[in-house]
Amino acid sequence: MSAMILVVEDEPAIQELLSLNLRHAGFEVRVASDAAGARQAVHERLPDLVLLDWMLPDSPGIRLAKWLRSSERTREVPLIMLTARGTEQDKIDGLEAGADDYVTKPFSPRELIARVRSLLRRRAPQLGGDAIDAGDLHLDPDTCRVTGAGQALPMGPTEFRLLHFLMTHAERVYGRGQLLDQVWGDHVFVEERTVDVHIRRLRKALEPAALGGYIHTVRGAGYRFSTTQEP
Ligand code: CA
Repeated sequence: MSAMILVVEDEPAIQELLSLNLRHAGFEVRVASDAAGARQAVHERLPDLVLLDWMLPDSPGIRLAKWLRSSERTREVPLIMLTARGTEQDKIDGLEAGADDYVTKPFSPRELIARVRSLLRRRAPQLGGDAIDAGDLHLDPDTCRVTGAGQALPMGPTEFRLLHFLMTHAERVYGRGQLLDQVWGDHVFVEERTVDVHIRRLRKALEPAALGGYIHTVRGAGYRFSTTQEP
């Protein structure tokens, strides 16, 4: 069965362009023209991925992104923000709100499809392998669950992969480019700053168990996982 993409976009021409290209690439497409329609569509059927316009007529896209991330059912749905704005801060805001990636309009359909495919691959990581314990942290690749000191620590698919990689390569320092290669797989379209945002999200996800300090920043070099908590 092909993956179902929910396109949330109010401009008819762009909605049409997106649908056409996604269908051509073999995806099933549903469209919504505003945030209310998007919520309705998500209630009816959980999409495999959401393409979300930043500027919607009834509610900011960023609010819809936060709504998706706040509920257990939709927390892990991959999310790409579509934005006409090109400033670095807007991209970062979108990623902080829970988006996994962003595309700036006007976009190349080829690039968009590549990003969609890349994100879907990341969502179905097929990591497999044994559960890993490090300090108070427990990660199970089979169930995609992380617990810290016995407490469930929900996190997005990218944070999970990132944590899995870092835990299986503990005490070693990895630069942003290396992490993009290892965790994202193809970093043709992903900027290195994206890594920093996901590291922040990962630390935040570990915080309920007070384990964010396991992720060390090594100045000028990158990041390292260590059960020695950073002060
Ligand atoms: Ca719009």
